[in-house]
Amino acid sequence: MTEPSTPDAPSADSSSLGQARTGAARPDPAPTDAPSADGPARTVRLATMTAREYEEWVGGGSAVAILPTGAFEQHGPHLPLGTDAILSTAVATAVAEQTGAKVLEPFTLGYKSQQRSGGGNHLPGTLSLDADALIAQARQLIRGLLAQGVRHVVVLNGHYENTQFLYEGADLALRDLGLAPGAEQSVILLSYWDYVSAPTLEVVYPDGFPGWDVEHGGVLETALLLHLRPELVHMDRAVSHPPAAPYRFDRLPVVPGRTPETGCLSAPDGASAEKGELLFTQTVADLAAELRTELGL
Ligand code: ZN
Ligand code: MN
Repeated sequence: MTEPSTPDAPSADSSSLGQARTGAARPDPAPTDAPSADGPARTVRLATMTAREYEEWVGGGSAVAILPTGAFEQHGPHLPLGTDAILSTAVATAVAEQTGAKVLEPFTLGYKSQQRSGGGNHLPGTLSLDADALIAQARQLIRGLLAQGVRHVVVLNGHYENTQFLYEGADLALRDLGLAPGAEQSVILLSYWDYVSAPTLEVVYPDGFPGWDVEHGGVLETALLLHLRPELVHMDRAVSHPPAAPYRFDRLPVVPGRTPETGCLSAPDGASAEKGELLFTQTVADLAAELRTELGL
C-alpha cells in the first residue's frame, strides 16, 4: 500500500483537532465489552439483539450491517495479538453510532501475515486462516445477511492481508444470490486506515510518514490502542528501530532475519494517546460521512 486515498473526503481541520484534544467527542472506549450504560436497547451490537429485534431491524428495509475484520497476529513486544480486530471493531462501533448502522461480531482470524506487511506467518502468536477458509467465511456470512434482507453489508477491514479474500467472498456471495449491477442490495469493502487524512498524518508523523506497508506495530496501531485500550499497551517494552528494509519481492519460505527482531515493521516512536484520539476521531468522522453519502443514511 502506498498513499491514503481520501481525495474527496472531509479532513481534520483546526476545529476538529481542538475537539479531539479536549476529548469532547470521545466515543465509548470499550466497544467489545458489555452493552453501554444506556442499556441493551440502545446498543449497536447485533449480537446483543433478540431475533425479534433483528427481524424488525431487517424488515424496515434499510438495515446496514458493519462487519469488522482483523487477525490473530504478533504485534511486537508492546501490543496485543488481537490488535487488528480490536481496532476495526472500535472504528465500526463508533461509525455505527454516527450512522444508525449495526455491528456484527468481528472476524478475529485473518489471512496469513506476510513478511512485508505483518512480519510473517512464521512468528509465534500469529495464527491465520488459509485463503479458502477466509473466503468461505466471508461468502457465507455476507450471503446469509443479504438473503435475510439486510440492505447493505459494510466490511470494515483492520488487517492488510485480508483485503482480496474479503473481496472474493463478497463477490461470490453476490453471485450466489444473483445480485447484478443495479441491485438495491450491496456490499462495501474498505480498510479504516484509508480514511486517515493528510492533515492528520502530518500531526501523527511529524518526521514524515513511512507508508502503510510498514505500519505494523508502529505509530498508528500503538497510538490508537493508547487512546482506546491503554491497559493493553506496554510502552515500557516498546523498542526503537529503523523501519523494515523495503524489499520489492516476496520470498518463500521467508528469510526470518528480514523481519525486524521486534516483529514490528516500524517503531512506535512518538505514539501517544493524544495522537490516537486525533486518528480515531478524524477517521471515524470521515468514514461515517462517506457512508452516509454513499448509502443515503
Ligand atoms: Zn495490525
Ligand atoms: Mn495485521
